[in-house]
Amino acid sequence: MPEKDCIFCKMSFGEIPVKKIYENENFFSIPDINQDIKGHALVISKKHFATVLELPNSIGSELLNCIKNTSLKLIQEYDAEGFNIVSNNFESAGQLVKHFHMHILPRKKDDGLKII
Ligand code: AMP
Ligand code: ZN
Repeated sequence: MPEKDCIFCKMSFGEIPVKKIYENENFFSIPDINQDIKGHALVISKKHFATVLELPNSIGSELLNCIKNTSLKLIQEYDAEGFNIVSNNFESAGQLVKHFHMHILPRKKDDGLKII
């Protein structure tokens, strides 16, 4: 069931149109609205789960599939040499949107970013 007032549910259920990078049965990916890091993308579950702790293990391979296919597209499109995968879970870890998602950050050698 979509959560009222959840922006990622609205994207998932077509209420807000999005430009999908990749999708499978349980996940889709889109460009993050914040492109401070060029190519920054989000992998989002189609159903509302607040954090990774709520995700059923049975859809873990689809999550991996979406991460891999999205990353491969970003490498091609942004000429990336690597990428970081990050997931913020709960507010104290920096989670702003309370619907499970993962960040993919395309990287280049010497781009000066320090993720961890
Ligand atoms: P987090 O802090 O992990 O919850 O990150 C939420 C992410 O969602 C941030 O990187 C935001 O820039 C991104 N975001 C928020 N609204 C939108 C939107 N309408 N389209 C794409 N990305 C969004
Ligand atoms: Zn949601």
